[in-house]
Amino acid sequence: MASPVVSPLFARLPASKLTNWAGNFEYSTESLYPANSVEQVCEFVKTQNKLKVLGTRHCFNKIADSTSHLLSLKAMDEVVGLDPDVHTVTVAAGMTYGQLSPYLHSKGLALHNLASLPHISVAGSCSTATHGSGDKNGNLATAVSALEIVTADGDVITLSRQKDREKFSGAVVGLGALGVVTKTTLDIQPTFMMRQYVYENLPLDQVKDHFEAIESSAYSVSLFTDWQKRRFNEVWIKSRIEEGRAFKATPDFFGAKPATRNLHPIAELSAENCTEQMGVPGPWYERLPHFRMGFTPSAGKELQSEYFVPRQHAVEAILAVERMRDQVSPHLLISEIRTIAADDLWMSPCYKQPCATIHFTWKQDWPAVRKLLPVIEKELAPFKARPHWGKLFTTPPAELKSIYEKLPAFIELCKTYDPQGKFRNEFLNTNIFSS
Ligand SMILES: Cc1cc2nc3c(=O)[nH]c(=O)nc-3n(C[C@H](O)[C@H](O)[C@H](O)COP(=O)(O)OP(=O)(O)OC[C@H]3O[C@@H](n4cnc5c(N)ncnc54)[C@H](O)[C@@H]3O)c2cc1C
Repeated sequence: MASPVVSPLFARLPASKLTNWAGNFEYSTESLYPANSVEQVCEFVKTQNKLKVLGTRHCFNKIADSTSHLLSLKAMDEVVGLDPDVHTVTVAAGMTYGQLSPYLHSKGLALHNLASLPHISVAGSCSTATHGSGDKNGNLATAVSALEIVTADGDVITLSRQKDREKFSGAVVGLGALGVVTKTTLDIQPTFMMRQYVYENLPLDQVKDHFEAIESSAYSVSLFTDWQKRRFNEVWIKSRIEEGRAFKATPDFFGAKPATRNLHPIAELSAENCTEQMGVPGPWYERLPHFRMGFTPSAGKELQSEYFVPRQHAVEAILAVERMRDQVSPHLLISEIRTIAADDLWMSPCYKQPCATIHFTWKQDWPAVRKLLPVIEKELAPFKARPHWGKLFTTPPAELKSIYEKLPAFIELCKTYDPQGKFRNEFLNTNIFSS
């Protein structure tokens, strides 16, 4: 421990080894400092040579790891400002979407989109460009309009979309490399109601011929498949209940048939942890995620990988994965296809390009998945597929460099705020700073 100022708090070690949410990864240190204020964050950062911030630990790879110290802002989970006139809310770094969303709804307000689950922190999610689905919806980080960051020397800076255009675009999807995000300001809009419909057995040929029409049929659309039988097992359609925008639930959706009960994306699992379906109206935050707060999301014991392909290559990329079905299926729990609008955030996989994502929820067998990922990545390489920063990938750093045109500028930006590499770890050194 470097400083007597923080040592009494710092000494709180977790009872058992600290792991990520999925339990597939054990952090390399047990030194976890729980900060309660921006002042404590500044003091801690000043006195450490190396550290990483932990969010809600939902990443599947080593992006949040540290061999020195971890900093948790979990206790700093309050709304620090709400300005309905300029349509923004400012939250402290420990706040999750699950905490923020009902609060906003109670004030008649909403966010533009959510990921598959609400359990994740706003700061950690935006740092990795976490996304939901929807042709016109940017990833969650596109809602960020300002950030408060504690930089490596312990100074507090703010960056805003309005005042710091370039730096701001570089900092929002910051991969935890610029410093400690202590506050995030997000764009908000009037609250809205939604209905969720699920269809079963969408033929692959329909996706091939009508991908655009299927994906643009509602506010947010997700296709789930196990890559068997040339069909998508389930289509999840999330529709805003608004004049002229609502999805018309017909008995046939491109050959798929309406589900007759709530379903889990993996149909054999209970739908108890899933958001309400069958067209039942509900607030945005209880329909946009697939999984409900208060329940374990997804399958639990799993691994995840996801690749973003430029929208114009979506069908070709889907067909390329489908051809690998015999290799993929034995290790797969389920795959999901979503779409995301383009943005101007440097390290976002959707930088300047609308994307479709091909997601894999794997059985928790890392040796098998590790062998398979390069095979999938090779097939998706012609489409310049970008891996999700928070999920498992083996894309070589040189490849990452060639598909992120803003990577050199991002490295320079990181050096401005963290010249000695205090916030770097093995993941960042390998994937970002080795180029
Ligand atoms: C069941 C499940 C479902 C998921 N669904 C989706 C989905 O629908 N869409 C999607 O895109 N992703 C999804 N993910 C991935 C996940 O949401 C993201 O990777 C996200 O980053 C997790 O946020 P976190 O706070 O848990 O991050 P952590 O794993 O705790 O940290 C991630 C990164 O953010 C940094 N960080 C965290 N807080 C701060 C801070 N205050 N200041 C600076 N840096 C910080 C960390 O240092 C690290 O680099 C899912 C994951 C799980 C486990």
